[in-house]
Amino acid sequence: MYKDHSHSKCISTALERADSLCSKRNVRFTPIRKKVLSLILEQHMPIKAYDILAKLSDAEHIEKPPTVYRALEFLIENQLIHKIDSSNSFIACEFDHKQHESQFLVCDNCNEVMELQEPLLSSALTEISESKGFITRQSHVEIHGVCADCAN
Ligand SMILES: [Zn+2]
Ligand SMILES: [Zn+2]
Ligand SMILES: [Zn+2]
Repeated sequence: MYKDHSHSKCISTALERADSLCSKRNVRFTPIRKKVLSLILEQHMPIKAYDILAKLSDAEHIEKPPTVYRALEFLIENQLIHKIDSSNSFIACEFDHKQHESQFLVCDNCNEVMELQEPLLSSALTEISESKGFITRQSHVEIHGVCADCAN
């Protein structure tokens, strides 16, 4: 589904968006944060922390894991990326979230993840939780299956 688009434009647009979001929120979009985000944006697939670490390191320079983890934390906090818990990997966010609610379709065949923006689903989940007296702090739903490309 991402095959027919100009991917370099897609990355630069996402970086610009992140840049303006950070300045709006008064947080610093430091070079390492930007670098980590662009590595995550490189493909429309979830990427693991150690792959990011490997891409940031070379023969002369080994990036330190805490640096990468701190950058990842920052990007998650600012909802520029999401962590996919079931595969312990990270994917760039495609939406401007007002609330911490995300749903993901995870393909078990090709590992592609599609983020959903379904307000009805979010409010239904909140309503159901509230009816059980449960106070939701953060909602994150991962639905596993086979994507349209793999099903064909
Ligand atoms: Zn793209
Ligand atoms: Zn998102
Ligand atoms: Zn698939």
